[in-house]
Amino acid sequence: MTRQQKKTKVAVIGGGPGGYAAAFKAADLGLDVTLIDREANPGGVCLYRGCIPSKALLHVAKLLRETQESAAWGITFKPPEIDLDRLRGWKEGVVDRLTGGLGQLCRARGLQYIHGSAAFRDSKTLSATTEDGKVSDLTVDYTIVATGSNPTTIPGIDVDNKRILDSTGALTIDDVPKRLLVIGGGYIGLELGTVYAALGSDVTVVEMTPGLLPGADRDLVKVLESHIENHFGAILLNTRVDSVKPNKSGIEVSLTDSTGTRTATYDKILVAVGRRPNTKDVGLEHTSVTLDDRGFITVDNQARTSDPAVFAIGDVAGEPMLAHKASHEGIVAAEVIAGHKSAFTPNAIPAVVFTDPEMAWCGLSESDAERENRKVRVTRFPWAASGRALTLGRTDGLTKLILDPDTERILGCGICGPGAGELIAEAVLAVEMAAVASDLALTIHPHPTLSETMMESAEMFAGASTHIFRPGK
Ligand code: FAD
Ligand code: NAD
Repeated sequence: MTRQQKKTKVAVIGGGPGGYAAAFKAADLGLDVTLIDREANPGGVCLYRGCIPSKALLHVAKLLRETQESAAWGITFKPPEIDLDRLRGWKEGVVDRLTGGLGQLCRARGLQYIHGSAAFRDSKTLSATTEDGKVSDLTVDYTIVATGSNPTTIPGIDVDNKRILDSTGALTIDDVPKRLLVIGGGYIGLELGTVYAALGSDVTVVEMTPGLLPGADRDLVKVLESHIENHFGAILLNTRVDSVKPNKSGIEVSLTDSTGTRTATYDKILVAVGRRPNTKDVGLEHTSVTLDDRGFITVDNQARTSDPAVFAIGDVAGEPMLAHKASHEGIVAAEVIAGHKSAFTPNAIPAVVFTDPEMAWCGLSESDAERENRKVRVTRFPWAASGRALTLGRTDGLTKLILDPDTERILGCGICGPGAGELIAEAVLAVEMAAVASDLALTIHPHPTLSETMMESAEMFAGASTHIFRPGK
């Protein structure tokens, strides 16, 4: 049987937030584009198995928590009845609506969408295999590799998706285990741990380093940790899981910390110990693309790989593995292919952990500054002084700015508190626009809102803010 031959100016392998943003931009710039993905519609991990389903469930978790916290204000609710089938159906409906919308956008833009897998035969030829097994050869001028990432595993702990889950298995919420062990105190462990704790699981988080969210500023993590420890059964730091063994009553886990080794039994385990780039099965060996020592495709700030016909973006092209970073890189790759002088050179990529409270940061962190031995001025506005935080019953939050002590320039920001993920956008703009403390302080922020915490953190560069006064400063 002869293979079908097709031609396209730009092929994009992978339809996640990196790949579809690249394909849409390339089509908008008038290029002939083919997007290939294994799902019926674009969306990638983010829409099908990541950002969107987890945030839908986290919204439910927030609602459940609020019905409990309101008891302090004299409002009590009966314990909730949770219909897991309807909850799952709602979450899947959100995903279907978004991914279906992306399919429509592909058709509206006139780009070719292939539902299947693609691999390089050489730098300018791809072989695409559709779901029904048909194989075609695609001659291309340029390919953008946007194949994303997949969960890392721990040697000796096999994810079986019945009792030992990865994030994909956990998001299907087949049931609410009585005792859930979460291995990994990073983004996924804390977000999905929050979901299961709100649904009723007794959640234990085990993290091998001395703190949750390694790398993030400790004062922000402290705010988060002191809140979530009320909801999680236990947070075990500096602890390693050595082995897991299914038994009659669950899975027996051997845990080692500085005091020794002990065993505990759980009904399910969520393994959330990081993600690794998808570079296998793409035929990269038939190109001159190179990988770095962590397995990411090596790219420059125009998303060019070491093969002139191949670009790479998103999770497969390096940290941070975040959807918005992938999308922005995708747009740069499309513009560069169209001949524009674009480059991916952000001063601030926001990071948000959608726990309760949310934690968000961007630009230079205090920990980065310490590591780099860089002189900075840090201002902190505790939310206990925010009227809005008080009305929400959430005064434990913190907003901080990292500033250049000489020029007042805002270099970074960190926030921990409800809504931090929305608040951080202002700080990203401030860093990108090279704003100084007085720019933020003189910008009139609406009252009473949590956004005022940003303004007051900036006011504090001068020593005090309207609601914070420290004698002698
Ligand atoms: P992906 O989204 O991984 O998409 C890659 C696509 O390529 C997939 O559809 C895959 O099937 C396809 N593919 C791979 N190989 C081939 C091939 N050979 N042929 C055809 N198709 C192929 N990030 C955030 O910014 N915010 C969040 O709130 C957030 N929450 C998350 C929650 C979870 C549980 C997880 C797992 C991740 C989360 N992330 C979040 C991370 C985010 O999902 C990723 O950073 C983002 O999806 C990366 O986008 P991408 O385009 O690089 O790749
Ligand atoms: P992560 O890197 O955020 O956290 C993994 C954690 O597991 C780390 O704290 C690490 O020290 C710990 N760990 C590693 N090996 C361990 C072991 N053997 N025992 C105990 N702890 C161990 O990874 P993740 O939570 O799997 O998430 C993967 C990536 O997905 C994130 O880095 C992020 O880029 C992305 N993500 C983003 C969001 C968001 O933006 N809100 C949400 C989910 C995922």
